[in-house]
Amino acid sequence: MARYPPDLDRWREAARIAAEARELGLRLTVPGARRRDVADAIEGAIRAAGAEPSFPANLSRNNEAAHYTPDPDDPVAFVAGDLVKVDVGAHLDGAIADTADTVEVGGTHRYENLVRAAREGLRAGIAQVRPGARVNDVSRAIAEAIRSRGLKPMENLTGHSIERYLLHGGMAIPNVPGFTDAVLEEGQVIAIEPFATNGVGRIENGAFGNIVRFRADPGAKDPALAAMFGRFRTLPFTARWARSDAERAALARSRRQLQTYPVFVEVGGGWVAQAEHTVLVGPAGAEVLSALP
Ligand code: MN
Ligand code: MN
Repeated sequence: MARYPPDLDRWREAARIAAEARELGLRLTVPGARRRDVADAIEGAIRAAGAEPSFPANLSRNNEAAHYTPDPDDPVAFVAGDLVKVDVGAHLDGAIADTADTVEVGGTHRYENLVRAAREGLRAGIAQVRPGARVNDVSRAIAEAIRSRGLKPMENLTGHSIERYLLHGGMAIPNVPGFTDAVLEEGQVIAIEPFATNGVGRIENGAFGNIVRFRADPGAKDPALAAMFGRFRTLPFTARWARSDAERAALARSRRQLQTYPVFVEVGGGWVAQAEHTVLVGPAGAEVLSALP
């Protein structure tokens, strides 16, 4: 039973916008560039194209695997040799795309093996996609591609199905085999996202970061909070997106109504590369929605 979204072209368009924003982010991540400016530019490009970011631009560095976005006064500038995961999401009326790639700042070529391992894991995983395919075969292909470069796939970070307004749907797509009996269905939208590391291959929660989401509708009692819920619903957002001092203040005093995402860091302090595409399970195999046109 195929389960295509009824507005499939909107999903394709959101993914094209996300792909272009990803490439922009990769180009802008150069020595001396401020992390905050790169995040603002990525999100600005998504909005200029008529979509909304489906989460704040993630610019996690080095041993940070995911979930780092700059706060409004982030002072950091990238330096040559940083390994930066540019992880970008866009949505059109809840039709979500999620895509990432890794750049070695300044082209120092010290971590090319990591970057290639993540990309090859992604390619190998995508090659397994078709209706009726076992997710475990996708996972095995990812793990083998990464291990064949002498590196480790991240065991406890997974890809995921995507549903309308729901970035992480009910299906996990692990980066190692042995964790799932799930089967892919025609018409599903999924994100495949291998992470490769020279560490131990697991992440743990680091410090709480700057990405939050509403646990539920906060109601109308606090107008600033209600306005933000109207814009973001239950999708992740960040203080850089507050439009006024009233909204910034509402965020600061409403931590209990918000889920705050920790930054994920490699357990062994290893460095981490990531590659991710949003993929449609088409009749004959994968349609990579977030590939460049
Ligand atoms: Mn994802
Ligand atoms: Mn992502």
